[in-house]
Amino acid sequence: MMKMATVNNPAARVRNYDTKGLLGVKSKYEEDTYKNGHTQVWGSYWHPHFGWGYRCCYSFDHSSKCLGDAQKKQTIKREYEYELEVNK
Ligand SMILES: [Zn+2]
Repeated sequence: MMKMATVNNPAARVRNYDTKGLLGVKSKYEEDTYKNGHTQVWGSYWHPHFGWGYRCCYSFDHSSKCLGDAQKKQTIKREYEYELEVNK
C-alpha cells in the first residue's frame, strides 16, 4: 500500500522532471540570487535579533537595494543601539 502511494504520487513525478531541467534554469536562479545589486546572497549575514541579511551591505530587508557601505554604517549603528538597549 505504501509503495503504491509513492508510485502514484504526482509530486514525485514533478520532482523528477525538475531534476532533468535543472541545468537549464541554473543561470536564471543565480540572477535571482544576486538581485537588487547585492554581491552576496540573502542569508550571508546574521544578527541574533534582526535575523538574516546581506553581508555586502548588512541589510536585513530582503527586498532592499544594495547600498553598500552606507547601509553597513546604518546597520552597525542600529545593532549598537540595540546592544545598548539590551544591556541597560
Ligand atoms: Zn547588498
